[in-house]
Amino acid sequence: MFSFQSKWRYFFMFLGVQLVVMALLSREGYQKRVNYFIRIFRKPDHARNNTAVTAGVDVYANLLNLSRVHPHRDDLPYCPKKSPLIAGPIHVSFPSGLTEAVVQKKNPLVVRGGRYRPPDCEALHRTAIIIPHRRREHHLKYLLYYLHPFLQRQQLNYGIYVIHQAGNYTFNRAKLMNVGFREAMKEEDWDCLFFHDVDLIPEDDRNLYTCDSNPKHAAIAMDKFGYQLPYDAYFGGVSALAPEHYLKMNGFPNNYWGWGGEDDDIGIRVSLAGMHIVRPPLRLGRYKMIKHKLDAGNDINPKRFNMLAKTRQTWKQDGMNTVEYEIVSKDYLPLYTNITVNIGTEKGLKPLPKPPPTHAKALPSPAPKEPAKVPAVKESKKKSQP
Ligand code: UDP
Ligand code: MN
Repeated sequence: MFSFQSKWRYFFMFLGVQLVVMALLSREGYQKRVNYFIRIFRKPDHARNNTAVTAGVDVYANLLNLSRVHPHRDDLPYCPKKSPLIAGPIHVSFPSGLTEAVVQKKNPLVVRGGRYRPPDCEALHRTAIIIPHRRREHHLKYLLYYLHPFLQRQQLNYGIYVIHQAGNYTFNRAKLMNVGFREAMKEEDWDCLFFHDVDLIPEDDRNLYTCDSNPKHAAIAMDKFGYQLPYDAYFGGVSALAPEHYLKMNGFPNNYWGWGGEDDDIGIRVSLAGMHIVRPPLRLGRYKMIKHKLDAGNDINPKRFNMLAKTRQTWKQDGMNTVEYEIVSKDYLPLYTNITVNIGTEKGLKPLPKPPPTHAKALPSPAPKEPAKVPAVKESKKKSQP
């Protein structure tokens, strides 16, 4: 009898405890608690170690409501100083199966040559993106996927230029930037140029793609360096210069063939020309680098340290005032302007032995959406005038 009663007592006590636990869980938010337990067992994210990071928003969120064309483009008001479309951290991942056609579809307001202007206001800034490139089509696709909406969120008037090195000779990143500068400035009076590695994806749209009163280093917190600046003078990855900054430092060096050194040379030029490097806050200048190995045709440059030691003597004799190249082709593709260029070798410019392999297969251009402010010519075999 006694044992039967106590059994029931324990049963009701157990039931009571269950009810209290359930009531607590539902009051505090069941989901939150479940998440808490899941997080305990999940592998820690590299990013979480340094700064508090939220998952970030979809980079295309809030661009959907932009109307196609404003009826009276001429009397548009200026865009506000701070874009209302800016949202902060952006979710960046690299899903397989992304195609350029998808990127095009997601960016209906981007016109021929990869140009864009906000449809509802007159942009306060004109920014050109210069991307040095060879055999990184896969990376380029992801960069375009993220960069177009990123720049649209900032209400910029922008254009994307891919400077593709023709042929198989050793890669020369800095010289391609010089080509990009000259060719982009021929087309439009850009007030800011972003020199942008193809594999770096910005993770926060408050990292503004506009220029400052001094050259700006934007890619200051990359995942591969643990979201820290690797060393004080670092100027690699993504940097922004106004045309007057670029010319004041005689552009970038032309003679760094292969991997390494050129970014430090550029950093040294900034101070030799009497300027200094400015940077956004560490929590905003965040980038994910698409993982890759050292490319064929871009071996480490063994001369880089000797060359860097002489930048003080060489910067005025080598740069924008001496750059020589030959445009092989210029194509106004739906998502970017591709400029394929022969930059020669250390020994100077020589005609390419055979027609170079072209860049990523150009997708057929869709019917023109809006006349772009770019000349409708295809340049070929045109020598630059340094
Ligand atoms: N790059 C390229 N093809 C190459 C080598 C380099 O397109 O064969 C470009 C690309 O934009 C790349 C940048 O040059 O992001 C810098 O090279 P890399 O990514 O090898 O440098 P790191 O990752 O060491 O900064
Ligand atoms: Mn890289």
